[in-house]
Amino acid sequence: MLLVRIMEETGEKHEDLVCQSCGMPMEQEGDFGTNADGSPNKEFCIHCYQNGVFTEPDISMREMIEKVMGFMVNEGMPREEAEKEARETIPHLNRWRKFGTEYL
Ligand SMILES: [Zn+2]
Repeated sequence: MLLVRIMEETGEKHEDLVCQSCGMPMEQEGDFGTNADGSPNKEFCIHCYQNGVFTEPDISMREMIEKVMGFMVNEGMPREEAEKEARETIPHLNRWRKFGTEYL
């Protein structure tokens, strides 16, 4: 799901596109979100953005951090490490950057 796993699998760091909502790396066509006209959206992933709209339009940055942390913990990352990673990554993505870090 997340950068960590991809990097472990491939053993290299890609210059990749990362979802600007959840931080997931997007490498294949199926990873990209979709615009209203069905074309791929390279800013957001398929889990976050479909048919031109966010799949969870009301999710807060804090909730996104919790969600992403949950994925990483499921992937086997220790909780503290997952929390640190999510808190350091999510607030810098385009979807959240405007909110600053005062909501953390
Ligand atoms: Zn995403």
